[in-house]
Amino acid sequence: MNDLNAVVEAASAKAAHVDQEDYIQDGLRYCGKCHTPKQCIMQFGPVKKKMNCLCRCEYSEKEKARSERKERQRFEELQRFKRECIQDNAMQCWNFEADIAPDSKPMRYARRYVEKWEDMYAENLGLCFYGGVGTGKSFAAACIANALVAKRIPVMMTNFSRIVNGMPDMWSGERNAYIESFNRYKLLIIDDLGTERGTDYVLEQVYQIIDQRYKNKQPLIVTTNLTWQEIKNAETTAMQRIYDRIVEMCLPVQVVGNSKRVDTNREKQTKAKALFRGC
Ligand SMILES: [Zn+2]
Repeated sequence: MNDLNAVVEAASAKAAHVDQEDYIQDGLRYCGKCHTPKQCIMQFGPVKKKMNCLCRCEYSEKEKARSERKERQRFEELQRFKRECIQDNAMQCWNFEADIAPDSKPMRYARRYVEKWEDMYAENLGLCFYGGVGTGKSFAAACIANALVAKRIPVMMTNFSRIVNGMPDMWSGERNAYIESFNRYKLLIIDDLGTERGTDYVLEQVYQIIDQRYKNKQPLIVTTNLTWQEIKNAETTAMQRIYDRIVEMCLPVQVVGNSKRVDTNREKQTKAKALFRGC
């Protein structure tokens, strides 16, 4: 019983928090702010013990801190997930809220893709945003990625160079593991396909990654500056194998219009001029 007393005393002392406004009523300490008890009587076998407990305001403060801590953890976990899924840092904040042309064709397709994600995934439907430089293809694709990542859906948004850079050398036994590592993402987005050239070996590996998605019935989204005609008639056989799969897996969405990059540059120049006025 002495041991038990010691434990009770320790626990009780630990929770004690006395304020000047506190008062004693019926032998128990009450909080001067919320007027609920800070002590209670507990029965341990034959022994009754006065224990410290939390008054209402202490309890709600503790709950508030707990939920803030949880919220912070959820946010940090989402940021980590986002960094893993969307490899380009700038693209991690490209979302529908930041859209300046919500009625444009790629943005309409992007929104529908997210709204109907379950069906898109079940039907293994992908998109190929193609068109000139800076027309917002990558923005549309990144909006899809960010919206799905926010729902904790594993997406990999990357580009050809990053895929190639991460590739183990051809003699390494890790090759298959690398190719298979893309399978854990429900959606693979390859940004800016067709701008780089690779060796036949590299192109073969990229083909394997895309082909594996085809076989596993997992969707693929691609953005490219190539025309649909160029996609259908690649310069080399190695590229053609990749493009043929894209044609099979992705609905072509032609993106035309003003270059967002040009608009951004113009905006930047206006700001810069204002800052340097009078120099
Ligand atoms: Zn209180």
